[in-house]
Amino acid sequence: MYILVLNSGSSSVKYQLVSIKDDSIATRGCVEKIGSKEAIHTYSAGEQGKLKEVHPISNHEEALSVIFRALTNPAHPVISDLKQIAAVGHRVVHGGAKFTETVVVTEEVIKDIRECIELGPLHNPHNLKGIDVCMRLLPGTPQLAVFDTAFHQTMPEHAYLYALPYVFYTRHRVRRYGFHGTSHRYITERTAAVLNKAQKNLNIVSCHLGNGSSICAVRGGKSVDTSMGFTPLEGLIMGTRSGDMDPAIIQYIMHKENYTIQEVDSLLNKQSGLLGISGATNDLRELFALAEKKDQRASLAIQMMVYRLKKYIASYMGVLNGEVDAVVFTAGIGENNAYVREQAVEGLEFMGIKIDKKKNRAAEGEADVATADSRVRILVIPTNEELLIAKDAAAYVRKRRGN
Ligand code: ADP
Repeated sequence: MYILVLNSGSSSVKYQLVSIKDDSIATRGCVEKIGSKEAIHTYSAGEQGKLKEVHPISNHEEALSVIFRALTNPAHPVISDLKQIAAVGHRVVHGGAKFTETVVVTEEVIKDIRECIELGPLHNPHNLKGIDVCMRLLPGTPQLAVFDTAFHQTMPEHAYLYALPYVFYTRHRVRRYGFHGTSHRYITERTAAVLNKAQKNLNIVSCHLGNGSSICAVRGGKSVDTSMGFTPLEGLIMGTRSGDMDPAIIQYIMHKENYTIQEVDSLLNKQSGLLGISGATNDLRELFALAEKKDQRASLAIQMMVYRLKKYIASYMGVLNGEVDAVVFTAGIGENNAYVREQAVEGLEFMGIKIDKKKNRAAEGEADVATADSRVRILVIPTNEELLIAKDAAAYVRKRRGN
C-alpha cells in the first residue's frame, strides 16, 4: 500500500508515491503549466527512467486524472490499481491558529481551511482544489491535511504577537504564524535521531535556507520562535523577498514612486532579496559565479544574506539561553553551500559554536561539521517534507486499521 503526497499550487501539482512498508519512493512527478494547452507532466517510471508527456490540461481535476492514468498505465504501471493508495497527504500552507497537527479532512476541516484563505490567499485555494478533486476521484480514500504553520503553534504569545494595538490580533488574527513547519519538524525529528536524544530534551536552531528561508528556535522538540511571520515575507533575506525591514519604508516608497498596494507587495515579495540587491538573480549559485567575476553587487547580496542569518542564529541562541544541542542547516542553500554555513557561524565560538572548515567543505548528505570540541553540534541534514507528510498519513492509516 502507498501514500500519495500532493502539493497543489496555482499552476502545478507535485506528487510522490511513498510505500507504507519501507518509506521508499515508488515514483515522483509534477504537472506544470495547468491551464495551458501544453501542460507538462514529468515523472519517473521505474526502468523507463524519467518520462515527459505534454497534454492540454485546463484544471486541477484534469491534472490529477493525468497523474492517476500514468500511475496505472499498463505499459509501465507504478501500481496496478488506485485502491493501492491507502491515503493522500496534502500539503496545506496556512492552518491559522486552528490547526496544530495533521488532521484527516472532513467537511468541517475544509470549512476551517477555507477560513484561512484570507491569511494564505496565494496557496490555500489551490491546496483546497487538490483536496476537493482527490475526494471526488478517490472516494473513500482518507485525505490528510498537513499544515506548514502547524509546528509553530507551540510558540508562546509573547513570541507570536506583534506590538500593534491588541485589537488587530483579536479582530483580524494579525500575529506571527511561521511557515516551513513541516521542514523544521522533520529536522527536529532527524536531529534527535542523529544525536540519539529524546525530542523532549532537544534544543536546536533549525535553518531552512532555500529560495524561501526561515529559521526556527526549537526547545524541548517544540517551536518557540521562528523568523517568518504573518506571511513568509518576514525574517531572513531570501531569493526575492526582503525579509525584515522598517515598515515605514512602504508608505515612503508608495509616495515616491506612486506605487499601488499590489505593486509594493510584488516589490517586497518578488523583486527584493538576493535578486533586488544584485540586480541579477535570486539563485545563489549564479550569484557566486558572478561574485567570482568581481561583480560587487552579487558579493554584497551574499554578504547581506549571511549577515542577517548570523544575526538570527545568535539571537535564537539567546532565546534558548545558550542551551543548544545543534545548529542545523537544510534546504537548497543550507545543504549545499559550505561558504554560507561557515560565514553564518563565524565568530560565534564564544557561544560554543565551532565549525570544522574541512569537514564543512567535504559535507555530503547528513553530516556533523562542528569541531570535536564544539559544545554545540553543527549539522547538515537534507530536509524531506514529503516523507514527513507520508509518515503522518501512514500513521493515520495504521491507527484506523488498529495496528
Ligand atoms: P525552494 O525554496 O524553491 O524549494 P531550494 O530549497 O531548492 O528552494 O533552494 C534554492 C536555492 O538553493 C538557490 O538559491 C540555489 O542556488 C541553492 N542551491 C541549490 N542547489 C545548490 C547547490 N548544489 N550548491 C549551491 N547552492 C545550491
